[in-house]
Amino acid sequence: MGAEQVAERFAELYGSEPEGVWAAPGRVNLIGEHTDYNDGFVMPFALPHQAIAAVSRRTDGVLRLHSADIEGGVAQLRLDDLAPQSDAHWTAYPAGVVWALREAGHEITGADVHLSSTVPTGAGLSSSAALEVVIALALNDLYDLGLKRWKLARLCQRAENVYVGAPTGIMDQTASACCEAGHALFLDTRDLSQRQIPFDLAAEGLRLLVVDTQVKHAHSGGEYGKRRAGCEKGAALLGVDALRDVPYAGLDAALARLGDEEEIVRLVRHIVTENHRVEQVVDLLTAGRARAIGPVLTEGHASLRDDFRISCPELDLVVDTALAAGAPGARMTGGGFGGSAIVLTEAADVDTHTKAIEEAFAAAGFTAPRVFEAVPSAGARRLV
Ligand code: ADP
Ligand code: MG
Repeated sequence: MGAEQVAERFAELYGSEPEGVWAAPGRVNLIGEHTDYNDGFVMPFALPHQAIAAVSRRTDGVLRLHSADIEGGVAQLRLDDLAPQSDAHWTAYPAGVVWALREAGHEITGADVHLSSTVPTGAGLSSSAALEVVIALALNDLYDLGLKRWKLARLCQRAENVYVGAPTGIMDQTASACCEAGHALFLDTRDLSQRQIPFDLAAEGLRLLVVDTQVKHAHSGGEYGKRRAGCEKGAALLGVDALRDVPYAGLDAALARLGDEEEIVRLVRHIVTENHRVEQVVDLLTAGRARAIGPVLTEGHASLRDDFRISCPELDLVVDTALAAGAPGARMTGGGFGGSAIVLTEAADVDTHTKAIEEAFAAAGFTAPRVFEAVPSAGARRLV
């Protein structure tokens, strides 16, 4: 699926050529899990998988939406009727972006949209952010809003938090909007400062596999909210604005202060050590030592499994199998309870590791996983 195909389908649906075609990718988080709502550090990179949208402006206050990937015809919405949590369908994501832009005072008078995406949904690869960002960038260009990438990401997050009603952090949208090919994005979610970190695995004879377990997570579900509330409680008990403010060197003292709040202790320990792991990975990649990030990734998995408790048997099986087969590192990625894991492998081992994981899943009676290689790719951009 390419820009041309999406534009052609747009013309069939709406009877005229689109004014332009845009793309926005899904992402994989290399390290820094659940830190984004704790004002902490994350480090995603963009996937080659992306949402592509053909878009034209309208002047009559109508928004028409169509997805090649969803059964059903063109959805037609009136801009003045858009209201938070009024829509339980996929259309809430793009409509939410239009709502957020208008709420922020930008004049949008309508749009026709046809889109298609290769980002697997519900796999922890952020198909939702790809959808939001591609619409935001298209409208930013067409309506000449002049908004910076980080600002578009903020508005997309607002669309997802308020309009859709999913309490997610800022990472996914920023990754989709700001990533660069051949790099991972080191993002400080407190001040939104960012740095592109060279992430050229091929040059070091390495590869990164994404293993989609096909176990669907429910991101807006209760477990995510519970972890988030627990982290907030931890910050309050420790008298800091956010867990980001607990220094790694002061972790033991902080945990001692939490006393017998066992669950909070575990959550705090994960967040503080995870922020530290992001900094370690930044330092290692900057020093050209990509292979050495393996054990840091693996420690991150153990922390998510044992302290944050958001792994699942399928994710653990990917990690255990890859490590047993000699991979330098592996971890679950994304919100947890399913979705995907990443495996750092030697280039020569891609096939054997893939096979080992597939066989382990078959032996365990799990649904076959989808394994693909992730090459750090470009962020959102105009195609036509
Ligand atoms: P994730 O972002 O991890 O893939 P989410 O639950 O956050 O999972 O978002 C998935 C939802 O995004 C889907 O249920 C659907 O509503 C919407 N979505 C994603 N891709 C598409 C698409 N190509 N067409 C229509 N809706 C999509
Ligand atoms: Mg999502």
